[in-house]
Amino acid sequence: MSKILVAEDNPANLELMREILNMQGHEIVEARDGGEALLQAEMAHPDLILLDVNMPVLNGYEVLERLHANQQMAGIKVVALTAYAMRGDRERALQAGFDGYLTKPIDVRTLLETIDEFLDHGEGRAGKYGT
Ligand code: MN
Repeated sequence: MSKILVAEDNPANLELMREILNMQGHEIVEARDGGEALLQAEMAHPDLILLDVNMPVLNGYEVLERLHANQQMAGIKVVALTAYAMRGDRERALQAGFDGYLTKPIDVRTLLETIDEFLDHGEGRAGKYGT
C-alpha cells in the first residue's frame, strides 16, 4: 500500500481516481486546489502526487515549483494531470520537471500503469508477480 495525494478540482475526476486507487488498496489524500495540495504534501508525505495542472489558488506548475524548492518534498514523484490533449503539452510538463503525465479523461489502465511505474521505484514488474 502506498500513500497517494490526488490534487484535482473537478469533483467527478477526483471521485473516479479515489475509487480506482482505493480498489488498488492505496491510501488516498485529497486536495481540491493548489494551496491545499501543497499543505497536504507537507503534512501527509505521500509516495506519489497526481497533480492537476489547472486548479484554483495555485496551478499545477506553481505547486510543482514550490515542491521542488522544498528539501523535504523535492524527492516526491509528481505526475501531471491535464485536460489539454494539445501537442506540446506533454513536453511542457516534462520540461517543467513533472515525472510523468496523464491526460484527462482518465484512462483507468494508463492510470494504473503510471502509478505502478512510479511506485515500483524502477524495479520493473517481474518481482511483483513473483511473490
Ligand atoms: Mn482542474
